[in-house]
Amino acid sequence: MLIPVRCFTCGNLIADKFDDYQTKLKAGEDPEKVLNELQINRYCCRRMLLTTVETIQQVIPFYESIQKRKQEVQSELD
Ligand SMILES: [Zn+2]
Repeated sequence: MLIPVRCFTCGNLIADKFDDYQTKLKAGEDPEKVLNELQINRYCCRRMLLTTVETIQQVIPFYESIQKRKQEVQSELD
């Protein structure tokens, strides 16, 4: 969901670079060049950025529907 703050393997701080990485990727830059620019050299750290999938936008509708259902149940009880 959210990127881990540190690399699981070596403990290098990576979360602070994730925003730059995402914006540059969305601009169409090559991931290899972006990782090199951000000076993420170890492959354990590179995989952390490469393999993170932001699922928050996919999860939000479920929370919204749960909230909606709770309100329906509550209104039926009242
Ligand atoms: Zn690492």
